[in-house]
Amino acid sequence: MNLIFLGAPGAGKGTQARLLQEREGIPQVSTGDMLRAAMADGSELGLRAKGYVERGELVPDDVMVAVIEARLARPDARHGFVLDGFPRTLPQAEALDVMLERAGRKLDAVLYFDLSDETILRRLTGRWVCRQAGHIYHLEFNPPRQRGRCDVDGSELSQRADDRPETVQRRLEVYHRETEPVVEFYRRRGVFSTVDAEGGIEDVHRRVLATIRTRMELRA
Ligand code: AMP
Repeated sequence: MNLIFLGAPGAGKGTQARLLQEREGIPQVSTGDMLRAAMADGSELGLRAKGYVERGELVPDDVMVAVIEARLARPDARHGFVLDGFPRTLPQAEALDVMLERAGRKLDAVLYFDLSDETILRRLTGRWVCRQAGHIYHLEFNPPRQRGRCDVDGSELSQRADDRPETVQRRLEVYHRETEPVVEFYRRRGVFSTVDAEGGIEDVHRRVLATIRTRMELRA
């Protein structure tokens, strides 16, 4: 199954993509996670991306398209993927179309996670992630069992540098300007569905599964 998760930062795309990977075995392809890993390694990609990510701006399209092209060609993504954080601009969406067409692949569903700006701000400013594997927590909505420690691997939790209030504001502006047109780009296609992203993780997960099922039935 080839899926795209769209929505503002903090809408829950990463949390839901990870759940789908764990429970359904569809690989999560998160460009944000890939960039953060590259930055932690100090690789060439990481060095190029660092300034943009830290300012809450977008990494240039040509860089991101090359990253995704290489990632989707890897064996685990050959039979399906959940794109989380890509495409974020119209040129990225157009490049993805070309890439999939060339590979003879099709999108099965594009899920748009719909959430109010107010909830987005509350979610982002309370978000903490584990240093080891990026498991996501929220001080209020999804707290870890032990303060400051990941439930899964026990590693230390930290706040993403770009979840600071000034940067969050910038990321939301960039989202409205660059990524909302991408939502409109896919909305006109048959594969598009809106998911109500308010509420708890398991509730949203059930809506995600139901939406994917409906899409698959319509396709069959
Ligand atoms: P995320 O974890 O998806 O919120 O991404 C974190 C940051 O990585 C973003 O604020 C951007 O700076 C960068 N980034 C992630 N995905 C993309 C993309 N598709 N295009 C450009 N920049 C991206």
